Amino acid sequence: MDNLANIPKCGPKTIAKLNRLGIEKPIDLLYHFPHRYIDFSHCTAISDVKDNTAATITGQLINFQNVFTRRGKSLQKAIVEDDTGQITLIWFNQRYLSSNFKVGETYSFAGTISIFQNKKTIIAPVSGQHNTGKIIPIYPETTGLTSSWFRQIIPNNIENILPDIADSLPSSILKNHQLLPLKLALKQIHEPTDFSLLKQATLRLGLNEILSLQSAAYINKLDWTSKTAHQIFKATPKINKQMEGFIASLPFTLTPAQFSAWKDINADLLSTRPSNRLLQGDVGSGKTMVAILSCLLAHLNKSTSLVVAPTEILAQQHLATFKKYLKIPIYLLTSKSKIDLKKLTPGSIIISTHAAIYQKSSLSHQVGLLIVDEQHKFGVAQRTFLVNSLHPPHCLTMTATPIPRTVSLTIMGNLDLSIIDQPPINRKPIKTFLVPSQKYSDCYKWLENHILTTHEQAFIVCPFIEISESMSSVKSAVQLYEELKLKVFPHLKIALLHGKITQNARVDTLNDFSQNKINILVTTPIIEVGIDFPNATCIIIQSADRFGLAQLHQLRGRVGRSDLQSYCYLFSESDNEKSHHRLKMLQTTNDGQKISEYDLKTRGPGEAFSVIQHGFPSLKIADFSDYTLINLGQKIITEIQSTDPKFNFESLIHRSTLIHTATN
Ligand code: ADP
Ligand code: MG
Repeated sequence: MDNLANIPKCGPKTIAKLNRLGIEKPIDLLYHFPHRYIDFSHCTAISDVKDNTAATITGQLINFQNVFTRRGKSLQKAIVEDDTGQITLIWFNQRYLSSNFKVGETYSFAGTISIFQNKKTIIAPVSGQHNTGKIIPIYPETTGLTSSWFRQIIPNNIENILPDIADSLPSSILKNHQLLPLKLALKQIHEPTDFSLLKQATLRLGLNEILSLQSAAYINKLDWTSKTAHQIFKATPKINKQMEGFIASLPFTLTPAQFSAWKDINADLLSTRPSNRLLQGDVGSGKTMVAILSCLLAHLNKSTSLVVAPTEILAQQHLATFKKYLKIPIYLLTSKSKIDLKKLTPGSIIISTHAAIYQKSSLSHQVGLLIVDEQHKFGVAQRTFLVNSLHPPHCLTMTATPIPRTVSLTIMGNLDLSIIDQPPINRKPIKTFLVPSQKYSDCYKWLENHILTTHEQAFIVCPFIEISESMSSVKSAVQLYEELKLKVFPHLKIALLHGKITQNARVDTLNDFSQNKINILVTTPIIEVGIDFPNATCIIIQSADRFGLAQLHQLRGRVGRSDLQSYCYLFSESDNEKSHHRLKMLQTTNDGQKISEYDLKTRGPGEAFSVIQHGFPSLKIADFSDYTLINLGQKIITEIQSTDPKFNFESLIHRSTLIHTATN
């Protein structure tokens, strides 16, 4: 069956609604899954029904009446009787029902039993073969198609649709892992016969979703590594000596975690296959130095590196940092600062913003190492090189966004992973406090005193630049800046920084801040990524409840970047208990990984990855925090690879999960 129009009760209007749900073919109907079930499988004698339980009863309709209430409303009242007793059924405003039922006939009804004025009652019972005497699937009703419509249509057509479905998983895998065959799983998910089979069906279909993502990542990885790297790097004794000399000359020793990440990357760079690695390390863990080492190795191999930063501010800052450590040609490429690529000597370093590299397709002929810093749309920059070139550069993506292991095993499975899991040794954990509104002024007083005695600096972050009408309670950075300057901190130097301030003014402000000519910087989340001012030790985050936890953690990471004790104050006027609980979580842990796993569990991927705004697939059944399932998927992929090297992994990719994967 190939066409929705072949399905009874599917006219053009219905088909249009189905299309809006992404249902284009009969097969897609089977992938429109119920979101919950009601157990009406218990068929009970009327005398045995219990208050507040779901049940199906069968009996003779002995009375049916329409009762009209005031204001033109109506209710329908019926009495059904079996050998053991009577029960009352009540519906609201369903006058047409009287024509569905005939007094004297026998019917089955299902619903939740309530005892009402001492009588057994079912409010709004359902009837009919599809609704009674079994486990009833409840479908999401989002586009004007009712759950009960799906409940009729899907089972009536399932036998006709199933033959079109092929199970792509090898039978040996099904056997080894005791998985339900796909057809059986699809049948059970719509027409469960019992809860244990339903559970197995859910497992199988969830696994398919996970496998779909993992296969996409796997294919992407094969595709990438089937090419030859843009340039083959070497580690000659001379180069090794230069690298060692550089590391020894640093003002600090690399942490063991930095060193081990560098070893991974070093091995990548010496391979003929282009590498694609994710370097994950909490804010302040020292990823930049690892990037610098990588660029130096490229330079010594006369290969050009491109370092991509998400914002101009960060690009500027990287330029300064790289120049501080490396005495080699380093250029800035942004929308405002152009460079002549023809004049570039091999072995240079280009620091660029993301936007700028799109305008320079010729970059792909020159770049041997691509480093993407704080990239939240994973894989995007890499793709521009893959499309253009048979010889892509080695790729290193750096992120402070802690990625739950389950996520790196699915949508980021195409990336190799190195983790810097320890801060430079001299760091003290940041002290975080949730501050209620009556304590704001105390907090400000403390801050003023702290700055005056220690000469350390502070950030005050607001969610928005200007007052937005819908969020009038949120103080804008501009307004707050004026207020703080005049009323709260008249004795301190305070400056404003946000995305709408001109580039030059921004650079000036940041320069002044880095030279401690400014005590407090009032700003927006523009400072979220990457910015490094070791003397800034205090951060106040206004309306903290409006941020995701991962983002708050990033913001907090703007302090605590030296051996000084740092402080983070979360201001929140929200009395919502949940958000209070979330913020408390931040108060008790500095472990970004834990924070992201918590966000993923409690708020789902959309919230947990508000910083990875794009590229998150939506799963219908599986759960991104289900480690067991995701691990099983990984295991199965590896098993298939080893038993059947020619296996077509495309066949495991399901259209519905592909829409937003990070790898496509
Ligand atoms: P992030 O990982 O957030 O990008 P950075 O690379 O900006 O962090 O490093 C944060 C700060 O730590 C910088 O000032 C850097 O110079 C310093 N740093 C990096 N590595 C070490 C180390 N091994 N020991 C001491 N300080 C270090
Ligand atoms: Mg950084």
